[in-house]
Amino acid sequence: MKKLNNVIKIFPILVLVLSLNGCDPTTSSINIFSDADDVQLGLDVVNEIKNNPNEYPIFTKDASVKAYIQSRIFNEILASSKIAKKNVYKYSIEIVDRNDVLNAFALPGGPVYVYTGLLKFLDSEAALAGVLGHEIAHAERRHATNRMTKYYGVSFLLSLILGDNPTQLAEIAANLFVGVAFLANSRSDEDESDKFSFEYLKDTRYYPGGVKFFFEKLNADGIISGSSSQLETFLSTHPDPIARIATTNQRLRDANFTVRNYDDTGDGIYRTEYQNNIRSKIP
Ligand SMILES: [Zn+2]
Repeated sequence: MKKLNNVIKIFPILVLVLSLNGCDPTTSSINIFSDADDVQLGLDVVNEIKNNPNEYPIFTKDASVKAYIQSRIFNEILASSKIAKKNVYKYSIEIVDRNDVLNAFALPGGPVYVYTGLLKFLDSEAALAGVLGHEIAHAERRHATNRMTKYYGVSFLLSLILGDNPTQLAEIAANLFVGVAFLANSRSDEDESDKFSFEYLKDTRYYPGGVKFFFEKLNADGIISGSSSQLETFLSTHPDPIARIATTNQRLRDANFTVRNYDDTGDGIYRTEYQNNIRSKIP
């Protein structure tokens, strides 16, 4: 923690130095972390989550829900050949037992969390598959450590890595992660994750436009335009829901798929299966 204090003090100086040198940390595409760092960071945060059961209570009321989501949906997405790091990262799925949160998130290196509030709100397996594909893409595309690299600056992180105390580095990185990685995803990261979710789902039993179903239902229920504390976290980490519906519809048309709505039925939607195996089992 002492080191973290130093980090906070150094940061403004670093930004100044980088801007004087004409190196803009916000446009760099360099990621200073290795894939192994992503995995380790993710595992560190998994442990922090385990140590905060009040904020992140794990859903244990019916073990069949997680088992079903994992075997039928999550693992089917991971089977896509487009997921390049399936043997490098440690993909896992966990359910957070909070009906008051409409959200899901991914940690670097693969752990994905989905809240019961979101599971109760969605109404088809295609919709959940779309969300899970999106979260997997955040890990796969390394959005968190890309963002950490940009935020803290390449030179600064290099100086840490070239230092002689890797344990302290890991500790600093874990502390930094908590502060930085949960900041709002950029619009381009969100769009990239939507695009990859669409691509992954093309290789599954699910309708590839599933990633937009959540937004369509929010919109139809008047939740996006109204004020909802349930949504506050989600909208702060997932901007531009309305624009993302239109972008996904365009992707569907470009790839010659029928544009279908969240409340449509038919091939690839799996509404009854969702109701019977997931939604009805969450009190
Ligand atoms: Zn996202």
